[in-house]
Amino acid sequence: MGNEQLAIHGGPKVKTKPFGTGKRFGDEEIRELKEALDQNTLFYHSGNKVKTFLERFNELYGIRYSVAASSGTAAIHVALGAAGVSVGDEVITSPITDQGTLIGILYQNAIPVFADLDPRTYNMDPKSIVDRITPKTKAILVVHLAGNPADMDAVMDIARRYKLKVVEDCAQSYMTRYKGRCVGTIGDYGCFSTNDFKHISTGDGGLVTVNSGKEEDFRVVHAFADKNYQRLQGEVFRELNYLAPNYRMTELQGAVGIAQLKKLPEICEKRHQYGERMTEGIRDLPGILPPKVTEGGWSSYWFYMLRLDGSRLNCTREVFSSALGAEGIPNHPGYIPEVVYRQPLFQKRQAYPGSDFPFCLSETSYQPGICPEAEQILATAVRLPISEFFTESDIEDMVRGIRKVALHYAK
Ligand SMILES: *Cc1c(COP(=O)(O)O)cnc(C)c1O
Repeated sequence: MGNEQLAIHGGPKVKTKPFGTGKRFGDEEIRELKEALDQNTLFYHSGNKVKTFLERFNELYGIRYSVAASSGTAAIHVALGAAGVSVGDEVITSPITDQGTLIGILYQNAIPVFADLDPRTYNMDPKSIVDRITPKTKAILVVHLAGNPADMDAVMDIARRYKLKVVEDCAQSYMTRYKGRCVGTIGDYGCFSTNDFKHISTGDGGLVTVNSGKEEDFRVVHAFADKNYQRLQGEVFRELNYLAPNYRMTELQGAVGIAQLKKLPEICEKRHQYGERMTEGIRDLPGILPPKVTEGGWSSYWFYMLRLDGSRLNCTREVFSSALGAEGIPNHPGYIPEVVYRQPLFQKRQAYPGSDFPFCLSETSYQPGICPEAEQILATAVRLPISEFFTESDIEDMVRGIRKVALHYAK
């Protein structure tokens, strides 16, 4: 038992000074935006901003080809479409993710199949991926959750063995490294989001990497984001062999993206330091399971999510969360409310109102319990924000808050 009185019981709060804040957008964004408008066109193919944004991204990531999209969700749809995912195919993915991971699968009339997760990294467990493979499996859609890389050696090994495509959802994992390589450059395609909540923002937006480095693959991805228009090198072809949406990025987003990319390495470095410090500060506590960075990994901590070991604490997760909140430490019990397969869309097997298509093409189950580790993660997790604008003393206060509450409730 800790000897300090908790704030929730009337004791003094740990956090007395407000958290550090800052401006994400400044003069650089304004200058880029003005230049974009001065071009007298906001169309990506006529202007230079989206092109420059992609060039800078390619330099930063050391790749040849990437394609802009209107959102992270769009980027994932584009990658899946370009990978040839089509009617009746199964795509193995994670049940703890943003629904943007799943939308493109279903719009291709393919079927999401959920693999269970590692209890400490919250990323897909390779053994479970193998268990989910059927003759219909076409691709693995890896989610690198909260800045932490998935076990990509194992994933790529499975993909080679079973001849599957690999799409990486890196929406939460900018500059995340796995054995020295940036995630998003390891699978066939990597997908990023620049929505307003990610490491960098263009309001909305996204991007797909084409990792084969082959121009023909780049052309397919590019066309899939632009209703199958082939607008490369001046010529425009409009041959329609199959359906592709219009997910184009505008020059305004590209302009802001150029300025944001310059800040990205520093943002990720700061978040990395803060996340690592959090774990350092709480790893010895009874009842607290800090997140584990995947072996060989480097995390850019989009958020910080620990788990509680209920057998070693005299409180529920909800009480722990409220007590921590009362200390002035913002936190949230869990992440998404439930594993995604518990959503009515999956429980009713209804992607399109009044239809069971494409679910009728697959036997895969969405019964509660299919991913027990994932369900347990969400039932026991406490999520805390990490921000590059926090100060070191904010992080120390968060550590002190967790320590105070955990020691108070320790059995
Ligand atoms: C944010 C996010 C997406 C979707 O990105 P949008 O730009 O909002 O469409 C997809 N996957 C994950 C894991 C995300 O966090």
